[in-house]
Amino acid sequence: MMETDCLFCRIVAGEIPATVVRETDTTLAFRDIAPKAPVHVLVIPKEHYADVVTLTEADPGLAGDVLGTAAVVAETEGLVADGFRLIFNTGPYGGQEVFHAHAHVLGGEPLGPMLAR
Ligand code: AMP
Repeated sequence: MMETDCLFCRIVAGEIPATVVRETDTTLAFRDIAPKAPVHVLVIPKEHYADVVTLTEADPGLAGDVLGTAAVVAETEGLVADGFRLIFNTGPYGGQEVFHAHAHVLGGEPLGPMLAR
């Protein structure tokens, strides 16, 4: 179900442009508008779920589809040999800003420590 005021639902609907790198029946992968690494792709379920917990509890198969698309994107972006990072920011402590579940696929250079301390 589309949420009309959800940014990523609007990208799925084609109402807001995005640089799509892969699309499946159930998922969409597109470049982050403010990349934090040389490769920074977001992978989302087309269906709206607020975060990865809600998504996984409601539809574990769809959560698997998101992981599958993230893995293919890592391959096609050439990240697998050197490694990369897959992140689901969740909730306030996780720094989540867009409340439509998404995986960040980050790579293309050494990414440094997992957390800034
Ligand atoms: P998060 O903080 O995990 O919720 O990440 C949200 C991400 O969405 C951030 O990395 C933003 O740069 C990215 N973002 C926001 N608006 C857009 C957009 N229109 N197209 C692509 N990425 C976006």
